[in-house]
Amino acid sequence: ITPLPTTTLGDQFARALPELALPWQADQAPAPELLQLNERLAAELGLDSAWLRSPEGVRFLVGNHVPDGATPVAQAYAGHQFGGYSPRLGDGRALLLGELTHRDGLPRDLHLKGSGRTPFARGGDGLAAVGPMVREYVVSEAMHALGIPTTRSLAVVATGRTVQREESLPGAVLARVASSHLRVGSFQYARATDDVNLLRRLADHAIARHYPDAASAEHRHLALFEAVVSAQAALVARWMLVGFIHGVMNTDNMTISGETIDYGPCAFMDAFAPATVYSSIDREGRYAYGNQPLIAEWNLARLAEALLPLFAEDQDEAIALAVKALGAFRPQYGTAWSTGMRAKLGLSDTVEEAVTSPLIDDLLTLLEANHVDHTSFYRRLALAARGDAEPARGLFLDLAGIDDWITRWRALAPDADAMDQVNPVYIPRNHLVEEALSAATDGDRGPLDRLVDAVSAPFAERPGFERYAEPAPEDFGSRYQTFCGT
Ligand code: AMP
Ligand code: MG
Ligand code: MG
Repeated sequence: ITPLPTTTLGDQFARALPELALPWQADQAPAPELLQLNERLAAELGLDSAWLRSPEGVRFLVGNHVPDGATPVAQAYAGHQFGGYSPRLGDGRALLLGELTHRDGLPRDLHLKGSGRTPFARGGDGLAAVGPMVREYVVSEAMHALGIPTTRSLAVVATGRTVQREESLPGAVLARVASSHLRVGSFQYARATDDVNLLRRLADHAIARHYPDAASAEHRHLALFEAVVSAQAALVARWMLVGFIHGVMNTDNMTISGETIDYGPCAFMDAFAPATVYSSIDREGRYAYGNQPLIAEWNLARLAEALLPLFAEDQDEAIALAVKALGAFRPQYGTAWSTGMRAKLGLSDTVEEAVTSPLIDDLLTLLEANHVDHTSFYRRLALAARGDAEPARGLFLDLAGIDDWITRWRALAPDADAMDQVNPVYIPRNHLVEEALSAATDGDRGPLDRLVDAVSAPFAERPGFERYAEPAPEDFGSRYQTFCGT
C-alpha cells in the first residue's frame, strides 16, 4: 500500500481567493465504510485504489485524514434560488479538499458533500443520506459516459452516522471531482463585496483555469463571459437531447466550466413532454424540461450583471457589451440542438433545414401527444431505419400519424448505425435509480453495482441488461417525484 504523496492535494484556490475560501474541517465519521469507488477515475487522478480502500484511504475520502499541506475550505458563493437572490449561500455541507492533477495535466477539485456543518450551513444539518449521494454517483457517471460535461464521482462512503430526514437514514459522504467548483454564484458573491479587485482576481483565476485563450483577447473578461455562454449553450443542448432534467438550475448550481453540477432532484424524462417536472419543490415548473434553455440564458444574464464592472468603466457601455455577448446564446443553443437532433435521427448534413425543421417539429408533437418514452423511441427508430418499424410504432396510439412521419423520414436515407452511437440504450431511468438507492440504503449494493455497470457503457446493447433498456412500468411513471437537499 502506497501512501498518498502529500504534494498531490494543492491549495491553489484557497491561496488565490482567500476571501471565498473558509478553512474548515470535516466532521469525524464514526464508522466509515466504502460503498462505491470509481477505480477508473482514481487511476486518472493518480490515486491508488488499494490505498483508497485501506482504512487511511477511506478516512481520506471523508475528509478525516487530511494530507500534510492540504487546506480544506468551504467555498463562499451567493445565488438566485428559484429566482430569489440569496447573498450568502456557500458550502453548507461541503468542502473543497484541494486540487489533484489529472493525467491530462489539468487540475481537478476534490470535493466532499455531506461532510458536516460549516459556517454556511444556516438551518441545515450539514449531512447527506446514502440514497441521494448514490443518486449523484450513478447519474453523474451516466452523464460522463454519455459524453456530457459533468462533475465526476470518485466515491460514496457511508459514515456510520444517522441522518434525520422524514425518517432516520444512514449518512454518507460523496467524494466529487470537478474541473473546478466556480459557479455563477461565486461571481455574484464577489460582485456583492464591491471589491472590484476581488472580482478581477476571480475572473482571472477562472480564465487561467478554464479558458486560457481568453487571456490574450482584447477584452479578456468579455471573452471569459462569451466562453461561458458558449459552454452553457452546448451543455444545455446536450441535456435536452438526452432528456435530462437538472431540476434546480439556481445560479449557484451553474458552473463556469460548463460542467453539469449538483445532482439533487435531477431525473431523466420518461415520456416526452416539455412541461415535465419531477422535483417536489418546483411547484411552478420553473425548471421544467422545456424551460431549461431559457433558464440557462437567465442565469447567464445574472453572470453578466456580476461581471459588468470588468467589461467597461462606463456602465452603459458595459451593458451594451454584455447584451451583445448574451445574444450569442440563442443562436449557439439553436445550432447545437438542431445539429444534435439531426444526429439522433441519423440524417446527414446535406439534408436541408427546410426539410429537417418541420420534420423535427412534427415528431415532437407526435411524441408528446402519444406520451412516448423519449429514450426508447430514438433507439427503436434505428430499427425502423433498418427495415423494422414495428418496435417504434408500437409506442404510439396514433399509428397513422407515426406511419406518415416514418415514411417522410425514411425518404431521407437515415443512417441507423450513426443513430446508435448518439442515442443511448441505457440511461439511469427513474425506477432503476430508485431501486438501486433504496437497496443501497438497506445495505444491498447489488442493484447499484449493476446499474452503474449498465449506464457506464450506454450505447452498446449487452445481453443480460434487457430490463435496463425498458421504459418504466405503467404504475411507476406519472407520480414520480424527486427531492432536493436530502
Ligand atoms: P443546493 O440546493 O443543494 O444547491 O444547496 C443550496 C444551499 O443549501 C447550499 O448553500 C448548500 O450548501 C446548502 N445546503 C443544502 N443542504 C444542506 C444541509 N443538509 N446542511 C447544510 N447546508 C445545506
Ligand atoms: Mg448547490
Ligand atoms: Mg444539492
